[in-house]
Amino acid sequence: MKIEYVTKSIELVNDEKLYLINMELWNILERDNEIDGIPMEENLLKSLSKMASFVRKHKGFSLTFYRYSIGTTRYRWLFCIVYNINDRLQRVQIENVTCEFCGWKGKMANPTIPSLYDTVEDRQEALNIAWNMPVVNCPVCDKKLKRNAIWVGYI
Ligand SMILES: [Zn+2]
Repeated sequence: MKIEYVTKSIELVNDEKLYLINMELWNILERDNEIDGIPMEENLLKSLSKMASFVRKHKGFSLTFYRYSIGTTRYRWLFCIVYNINDRLQRVQIENVTCEFCGWKGKMANPTIPSLYDTVEDRQEALNIAWNMPVVNCPVCDKKLKRNAIWVGYI
């Protein structure tokens, strides 16, 4: 299966080309188990399926693929979730979170995970932007969460 077939749009994020996946075609991706002839391992597919069900449920999120070059001729596919915040796409990691003040449990989107930017040309700048984004607090008691959340939601 060609990546273009399951892509809804291609966006430059941190100067890197990200393929936003059309979730209507997700089952084809799961069935074929390869993109542009590059096989996807079972473990990769498992974490992808979790991400896929998350982006289906929550507005503003997209699942994206991008290429990681190995030498000059080979590459493999990496993937991450992006969140559309004020018409700008931000890479995030989805995490479980528990508020240490009131005990609320939910999910949060964290843009400050360094490994999100491993393939980005200006990694430090990408991280600086991530650290300076406005954070959201616990939706129940409005106190600060332990990690930087730019989105919080119920499971
Ligand atoms: Zn709380």
